Amino acid sequence: MARGMTYEFAHYTRYLWTSRGLVVVLADARPLVPLRESYMRRYGIDTPYNADVYARFDTFMAAVGLAAVSLVDREYWGWSVNFPGETEGFFVAAEAEGLLCGRIRETPKEGCGAVVQRQKAGEQGTQSFFEPNNSDPVETVQTYFEVAMQTTTRMAVPTLEHAVLVQALPHGKMDDLWALDNEALVAAVQGALATGELEQIEEVVLFYECRCTPELIDEKLRLLPSEQFDEIWNEHGTAMVECPRCGRNFKLTKN
Ligand SMILES: [Zn+2]
Repeated sequence: MARGMTYEFAHYTRYLWTSRGLVVVLADARPLVPLRESYMRRYGIDTPYNADVYARFDTFMAAVGLAAVSLVDREYWGWSVNFPGETEGFFVAAEAEGLLCGRIRETPKEGCGAVVQRQKAGEQGTQSFFEPNNSDPVETVQTYFEVAMQTTTRMAVPTLEHAVLVQALPHGKMDDLWALDNEALVAAVQGALATGELEQIEEVVLFYECRCTPELIDEKLRLLPSEQFDEIWNEHGTAMVECPRCGRNFKLTKN
């Protein structure tokens, strides 16, 4: 990508497929990749994993974006997943204002699980746990809807350019769509869009950014138990602290 080029945001659009009683989200998630890469370069965040791992991470992030935009009211949504048979787990946070960020971390190959935290502004947060069926990042997000939300939801991200979510409203009809492979599902939704069957409800712009600032990290540290707080600082009264959401490093001073 050329130097000085400004990156586009990722556009996610929610539709109503009225004749079928379905909510549809369509997105071109490709801009999330240069946005993530430029964020990581800007803050000197290490990139120790191979390209395949980042591609899986970006696909997971695209799917978390689909889930976020399927909601009528945005909220904070944090996804933490250890996939069966994989040595890298992913965390992705989606904020109500359209910020996505996350990080990759090493996990034991055995032992998998997903933790999903949600919080609406001014309300108590909720937490769900479930086991991913396989190592597919998109299917894992889809599984959350099935097990924690009891909604019939089909998601496909055959490429980042064509990310799609289809969710049945009560009495919605999607049996035939459920059986389609990923590419065929995207084609079916695009066909419905082309023939005017999809009514646009909302377009949402998503981008890669974290809320963290030195002040915010400092504030969080001061909530730690005093023993733990005291352990952080070196003899010069400074500490390097990593943002748990995006991996950005902050050099903090004790006073
Ligand atoms: Zn951060």
